[in-house]
Amino acid sequence: MDRKLGNCDGCKKEIKKKHLKKLNSGRFCDKCCSKKRLEHREYLKREILHIRKRSDILKEYEERKKREGLVPKIAGSKSRIKGKSKLFLYLTKLEKDFLWKKYIQMGMNPINIYERIKYDVNFLQELVSKLRDERKTDEEINKTFKEEFAKLIMENGQ
Ligand SMILES: [Zn+2]
Repeated sequence: MDRKLGNCDGCKKEIKKKHLKKLNSGRFCDKCCSKKRLEHREYLKREILHIRKRSDILKEYEERKKREGLVPKIAGSKSRIKGKSKLFLYLTKLEKDFLWKKYIQMGMNPINIYERIKYDVNFLQELVSKLRDERKTDEEINKTFKEEFAKLIMENGQ
């Protein structure tokens, strides 16, 4: 066996050792390295930023709806029942990327940006639940949500 060759720990392909990159979990070829980087980004987004996939969020929503269906309806909570809302607010990937770019342009470092976006997402979520508590209509909530997001973008865009 050629001593200059080594196997990628990802795809197991045999390539020149000098082309293998050392990562925590082993040595990898370029292709596997970039795949791992992408996976790590996804991980950060999901676990650190709590940015979840739309399908996950929808699943959770369905489960909650099912659970709430089991809870007996309390008299006088009509507006809640009426609020069988289809509205489900969250920041899209695009919106988060937008924030991300803003903060990069502001010269913030990635660690701070993670924290900052987490904070922003939290802020918007709390805002929405506050408006829900105030029994605002979906339309009103949606409008406020968008306004607040726009403000966020403008504030940071200086
Ligand atoms: Zn590989």
